[in-house]
Amino acid sequence: MIKFLDLEKINNRFRSEFDARIKDVLDSGWYLSGKWNDEFAAHFAEFCGTKHAIGVANGLDAINLIIRGYGFGPGDEIIVPANTYIATILAISENGCTPVLVEPDINTYNIAPEKIEEKITPRTKAIIVVHLYGQAVQMKKIWELAKKYNLKIIEDAAQAHGAIYDGNRVGNLGDAAAFSFYPGKNLGALGDAGGITTNDTELFERVKAIANYGSDYKYHHIYKGVNSRMDEIQAALLDIKLPYLDADNARRRKIAKFYCENITNQKILLPKTYDENAHVWHVFAIRCEIRDELCKYLNDNGVQTNIHYPTPPHKQGAYKEWNNQSFPITEEIHHTIMSLPMSPVMTDDEVKQIVDLVNKF
Ligand SMILES: *Cc1c(COP(=O)(O)O)cnc(C)c1O
Repeated sequence: MIKFLDLEKINNRFRSEFDARIKDVLDSGWYLSGKWNDEFAAHFAEFCGTKHAIGVANGLDAINLIIRGYGFGPGDEIIVPANTYIATILAISENGCTPVLVEPDINTYNIAPEKIEEKITPRTKAIIVVHLYGQAVQMKKIWELAKKYNLKIIEDAAQAHGAIYDGNRVGNLGDAAAFSFYPGKNLGALGDAGGITTNDTELFERVKAIANYGSDYKYHHIYKGVNSRMDEIQAALLDIKLPYLDADNARRRKIAKFYCENITNQKILLPKTYDENAHVWHVFAIRCEIRDELCKYLNDNGVQTNIHYPTPPHKQGAYKEWNNQSFPITEEIHHTIMSLPMSPVMTDDEVKQIVDLVNKF
């Protein structure tokens, strides 16, 4: 059986460093808001090229905290891709803002920059871009719109740690960025964890306080805040993994290249990239008109697959008010998309086996 994602194998590469580090954290007797959060945040900011980074409890909270930190709330509209994981949209709703959905580009699956302007109103406050599957959004047009209409750009970078657009890392392409370190992400913890990067010092100070009971210093509360902190143990382990992220992403690129060059089955639509550095291949998504048959065939032949995602947010029960709306490109993607195994620990032989099977389908 070729696993879709072998997390044990991924993390076992760091086993001895993890063991030593876990002992350090245990021995320190200090489990929250300590030295490992400071270390990891400093290293992650440096990695992304931003002035600031902060660890929070998870990726959803990271998006939430940025929206709240900017003070957006009821009556404010936030533009967001219709084709995203539902977390991006939930964070907008949770702040009482109105999500305004925009269709994706059928080639990149990311928000279509040329379809944004028609959705901007006097109430629009921000554009959230999602670097879906690990491919950075083409930002140029979005930067122009943000400037023209005075909008904030928020990145949902949960799937794209390390991707580079036009010389800059994801996380440094807008006003603030949200990351998830969920175990399966390109940089994953051993539990829930998330992060925010920004060059906006005021926003940084605000989200830092809001995430810690609204407290700017101990027992002094300036906001009705929340509890959203990264555990010291997660920060300590992420700090071990971060130096290997670029090499892991390079391995993912190599696998993606092999898939793209060797899958020749005409029933399959391969992913398109506009620049190899812009993609870190969190997910290797292909499209197939008979997707469910292909999934079953691969599974029957010992290859685990996945679907990111089977149902678009506007067709979910959570958003009944949108169920009758139509986003045909988003729906087309959801009907035909499926994900092949992708991880830095796959062997060449496994990748070859998958290609051979797919070509025989
Ligand atoms: C994983 C993910 C999130 C949420 O991150 P969590 O850490 O699970 O809360 C948000 N947006 C996207 C695009 C994601 O893939």
